[in-house]
Amino acid sequence: PKPLATRVAFVTGAASGIGRAIAERLAAEGACVVVADLDLEKARAVAAEIGNADVAIGVAANVADEAAVQAALNEAVLAFGGVDIVVNNAGLSLSKSLFETTEADWDLQHDVMAKGSFLVAKNAARILVDQKLGGDVIYISSKNSVFAGPNNIAYSATKADQAHQVRLLAAELGEHGIKVNGINPDGVVRGSGIFASGWGANRAKTYGIDEQDLGAFYAQRTLLKREVLPENIANAAFALCTADFSHTTGLHVPVDAGVAQA
Ligand code: NAD
Repeated sequence: PKPLATRVAFVTGAASGIGRAIAERLAAEGACVVVADLDLEKARAVAAEIGNADVAIGVAANVADEAAVQAALNEAVLAFGGVDIVVNNAGLSLSKSLFETTEADWDLQHDVMAKGSFLVAKNAARILVDQKLGGDVIYISSKNSVFAGPNNIAYSATKADQAHQVRLLAAELGEHGIKVNGINPDGVVRGSGIFASGWGANRAKTYGIDEQDLGAFYAQRTLLKREVLPENIANAAFALCTADFSHTTGLHVPVDAGVAQA
């Protein structure tokens, strides 16, 4: 692959949590980064913290809206001349049981994560294919794409959808030298927006614990007895973009301290 210092990364949902950590890590390795988020103000603030407009910009991108996705990608190309790494990270979790989940809940989860990641992948892949320089598409899916958990039927269904997008895109884009891989995180509490969104409170209630104990609760149920932090996901995303993983596509990497194996 092209050295990271010559690559441009487009990271969705990068104003917070895991996406932000990925943008920061790729920038630290020399990439130019586009911090794309529903929340433009926060996206710009995160980009400004990463560096000046020569290395990081914040753009508005509701991933569920194709025109907005195309506009954001255009901004990326205008600013940095292309796109080489695409990270489908934007997401939210309503964390509801079967009987609590409304049609609107189902549609929102699928609009943002199933449709949104498809729209980003499709429009970004067009750019990558035309550049003829290969590239990486990374989906931040979830342990829940494979395993059932309480109170998240719509969320988990979209994560399974994303997992299959990874396999399908790996097949379609492979001949262009574009690798498509997924990361399955679990239990990222500190540094993520899960309390702002109400997800953290809901999870704590589900497990009958205090909100501030949620990180430790997740850590004790892992094989490694370790809390998973946004930077752990960012490390894996970075690794997938390096030459060390030049022959890996269609893979899902768990970054969950072993909880999926527990
Ligand atoms: P977060 O809430 O900290 O960040 C999510 C970001 O996505 C926010 O900045 C939000 O504004 C943005 N976003 C939401 N809807 C959007 C839209 N329509 N268009 C563009 N941006 C939008 O969450 P996080 O914990 O960092 O999660 C990031 C990703 O990782 C999500 O896809 C999530 O499902 C996945 N994930 C998280 C965990 C975890 O434990 N936190 C576990 C597995 C998977």
